[in-house]
Amino acid sequence: MQNMFPFFSLFASFCLLVWLTTKFSARSGHYSDALEERINAMLPQTQCGQCNFQGCLPYARAIVENRAAINRCPPGGQDTVRQIASLIGVDEVPLSTQLSSPEVKLVARIDEDSCIGCVKCIRACPVDAIVGAAKQMHSVLEKDCTGCELCLSPCPVDCISMQAAHLDVKQWVWTKPANDYRLHA
Ligand code: SF4
Ligand code: SF4
Ligand code: SF4
Repeated sequence: MQNMFPFFSLFASFCLLVWLTTKFSARSGHYSDALEERINAMLPQTQCGQCNFQGCLPYARAIVENRAAINRCPPGGQDTVRQIASLIGVDEVPLSTQLSSPEVKLVARIDEDSCIGCVKCIRACPVDAIVGAAKQMHSVLEKDCTGCELCLSPCPVDCISMQAAHLDVKQWVWTKPANDYRLHA
């Protein structure tokens, strides 16, 4: 029986370690969620996308996960930066002047009048984003095109070009007005 003592002791330590790890992970998950909610509550909820995220909640999540700086919300302004800095215990920084629109996504487009249906672009496309058949006009499925440009050079008649993708709700950004839009007393 005495020989079993080290085994039981080891087993008990292992169980304690598993319990502590589980408890700590659950707590840290709850803490992140609560922090995300509190940061989100400080954001103006205009969902304008000027922070380069798809809305206020994704931006709040990015801050919690250390993927975004706290100074990227123009509608919230410096007051919001200050509040977030105070909440998460970091130094206040000036509102970013580097904010830009998300990069415009480019996709391939085929000039269908010029296409001779040689199928070379279909063979070059790694994601099957081009549809067509031999000696038939070809088209690009915009939703599947990654913009890799691999189809451009094989085309013998240069009828493929890269153009801006049509905007959908995930990429749309409300352009900041040119004039000062604050209300004056
Ligand atoms: S910039 Fe981002 S966080 Fe600020 S209001 Fe617009 S979407 Fe929300
Ligand atoms: S750009 Fe790339 S993904 Fe898009 S159609 Fe051409 S080869 Fe396919
Ligand atoms: S490579 Fe050019 S010509 Fe040939 S099928 Fe594709 S788009 Fe048409």
